[in-house]
Amino acid sequence: MTERLHNWAGNLTYGAARVEYPTTVAEVQRLVAGTARVKALGSRHSFSDVADTTGTLVSLRNLNRVVAVDREQRTVTIEGGITYGELGPVLDAAGWALPNLASLPHIAVAGACATGTHGSGDRNGGLATSASALEVVIADGSLVQFSREQDGDRFDGVVVALGALGVVVRLTLDLVPAFAVRQNVYEELPLAELEARLDAITGSAYSVSLFTDWQGPVIQQVWLKQRVSDDAPDEAPPAFYGATPATRELHPIGRLPADSCTAQRGVPGPWHTRLPHFRPDHTPSSGDELQSEYFVPRAYAGGAFRAVLALREALAPILQISEIRTVAGDTLWLSPCEGRDSVALHFTWSSDRTRVERVLPRLEEALQPFAARPHWGKVFTLAPGSLRALYPRLPDFRRLSADYDPSGKFRNGFLERYVTGI
Ligand SMILES: Cc1cc2nc3c(=O)[nH]c(=O)nc-3n(C[C@H](O)[C@H](O)[C@H](O)COP(=O)(O)OP(=O)(O)OC[C@H]3O[C@@H](n4cnc5c(N)ncnc54)[C@H](O)[C@@H]3O)c2cc1C
Repeated sequence: MTERLHNWAGNLTYGAARVEYPTTVAEVQRLVAGTARVKALGSRHSFSDVADTTGTLVSLRNLNRVVAVDREQRTVTIEGGITYGELGPVLDAAGWALPNLASLPHIAVAGACATGTHGSGDRNGGLATSASALEVVIADGSLVQFSREQDGDRFDGVVVALGALGVVVRLTLDLVPAFAVRQNVYEELPLAELEARLDAITGSAYSVSLFTDWQGPVIQQVWLKQRVSDDAPDEAPPAFYGATPATRELHPIGRLPADSCTAQRGVPGPWHTRLPHFRPDHTPSSGDELQSEYFVPRAYAGGAFRAVLALREALAPILQISEIRTVAGDTLWLSPCEGRDSVALHFTWSSDRTRVERVLPRLEEALQPFAARPHWGKVFTLAPGSLRALYPRLPDFRRLSADYDPSGKFRNGFLERYVTGI
């Protein structure tokens, strides 16, 4: 018997009977056309069963080239299997950058865009907002091109699509000129300061991440990622809203060594080596974990913080660390930040699924008054009806998926529960 494939965290064994690793787009087309149930697989970093199928998983890991950089249009076209870790250095060497990255570079660009993956920064949208065109192998095996320019509103439905429309074999992403970033970490920011001065604090750097275990009214670590520019000071200020500069490099989970983390202490470096928290050649985060994340409209952040803090005793035995980030609102139909500038509350749990799933309903109930949308790629227990009510464009997305996948070839249990119905 062949061994079944697992996701990165090991909490999910995919139900797929077969896993295919095509090397050409034509092969992807043949595979999709000739298979009744199929699903694209990225780098397997989702904790939920969003990428699962009972049919055939199609991994594009062998289709991972940079196709072209268009200097005039300021775009890059890539194949559907490339990871941010593979793409970043190539772009940087050519003088270009992506505006933002997630906490880890290990993830596939197509897989990240498909779930609305994000980094941080008041003015930075989720990673999918950089996509300006996609080439997708749809259910009948044909290749369809979508672009922001030609498809307008419909394109907003196609980018964060949870693999429901087909296999994305090429993406075109907007670029910005390459830039350098300094990363400084501060310790012990009073939570009251964060609540009182949220805009000033999250707006104080290009990307701001706040780490806490919620066991006291304090943010244990503040990570400030500042773009290096002529008018930005070289020196980090000696205090930050009551927090003090870290005197050594830190891992967000304080007990772990920082060698898996990107360089701190203000040392400037290329964007792709500072925007993620973790280095591409190391295990990101703790490696033994589950994750959840909830997005609330920015205006509700203070209430959401207090609601989580009130659950600290329930969180304590299973929480490794929590991260608070900000994400600019967007127009992508299934993006968790659709229509709202958001504050994302992330939870790195222990890998004890039973205990995590016992706490999640309490956390979700506490966050429910704040219209919290769960991350599609992380674990949640929210009832399907409650989740669907949080996405005003979901009915449009259902119609889109019925148009491109009438027989439900790309559907799986996750989509049937939360998005398309059976
Ligand atoms: C340690 C760790 C840290 C994380 N940090 C962050 C973070 O900072 N921010 C954040 O938002 N999330 C974060 N995540 C979650 C992660 O970014 C998402 O789950 C993301 O979707 C993973 O991408 P993947 O390529 O592994 O996708 P998979 O898990 O392989 O697939 C996810 C979805 O994408 C679809 N898909 C993949 N490839 C294609 C394709 N070519 N065509 C069509 N559909 C496709 C799949 O069908 C599936 O629906 C983290 C996860 C881990 C494990």
